[in-house]
Amino acid sequence: MDVITSFSIDSLPKVATGKVRELYNVDDKTLLFVASDRISAYDVIMENGIPAKGALLNLLSAHWFHVLPTLVPGLRTHFLTLSLPSMIPDSQTVILRNRSMQVRRLKIFPIEAIVRGYITGSAWKEYQRSGTVHTIPMVPGLRESEPFPGGALYTPSTKAEAGQNDENISPAEAAKIVGTKYAEKIEKLAIALYSAAREYAKERGIIIADTKFEFGLDEEADEIVLVDEVLTPDSSRFWPADKYGIGREQESFDKQYLRDWLVKEGLKGKQSVVMPDEVVKNTAEKYREAFEKLTGKNCDDVIHNRI
Ligand code: ATP
Ligand code: MG
Repeated sequence: MDVITSFSIDSLPKVATGKVRELYNVDDKTLLFVASDRISAYDVIMENGIPAKGALLNLLSAHWFHVLPTLVPGLRTHFLTLSLPSMIPDSQTVILRNRSMQVRRLKIFPIEAIVRGYITGSAWKEYQRSGTVHTIPMVPGLRESEPFPGGALYTPSTKAEAGQNDENISPAEAAKIVGTKYAEKIEKLAIALYSAAREYAKERGIIIADTKFEFGLDEEADEIVLVDEVLTPDSSRFWPADKYGIGREQESFDKQYLRDWLVKEGLKGKQSVVMPDEVVKNTAEKYREAFEKLTGKNCDDVIHNRI
């Protein structure tokens, strides 16, 4: 299968280009989300892509949009269908199939609803420095990769414009941005979603160490809706449960492998990096493994539409 890092759809107007995904306007109420095979790390997009990544990310999000409402009753999501809009010409369906999803277009709350279950990454660094996580004081004596003793933490950040870095903010600051009316609901929903997904994933051999959700507002119903990509290796830290151990860093099913390689090679933050075949192959394998564990489906079957 071809690795698709850039493409253009002439039949639909483009709304936005992200580091990995592109958004097209289908009609007033509907967007087409298309996931490319691009991969970014430390906010830089690599020159070459990861085979099947776009399809795996898109189909994993779709899986969660299907499963989460059964785990969190009353949950509303922006998911509409994996089918392509009728105006897409046959010549482009081969490229777009599996990597695209139609979603309801909504007003997006401009915060990232990050939930952390385990102390790792920047939270571990902050804790070692100051005994706090996201400025919240923590009990002393926590060890790296340990679950937070008081339960999962809600650590929101701003949603920065392209090219800018997201900034950590307190729940109070988040409330100023989204309004107090919605802030508490968003926090509760983010924690409920994380907790349900954590259970679900653990039964399938994956620890979700942390993740990021985005929410939109259905203005007519005045309801909060889960949007964007959900619980993918790009928006979460996934650890293999059978290799988990407290007091050290974890192996992961996400971009950590690529990040580590970039650091080791002195390429962190550098532009125009071409990943060698070995790095592409190993990264692709991690995305495939996460997908198969979480969905219980075989990647090749799904990608070639055999099931
Ligand atoms: P990046 O993820 O590359 O840092 P980004 O988040 O701006 O940048 P993408 O994730 O590729 O780019 O694009 C998705 C964009 O679409 C996000 O800005 C997200 O908030 C927005 N979005 C997600 N769901 C919806 C929706 N249902 N309606 C409108 N916009 C949405
Ligand atoms: Mg994004």
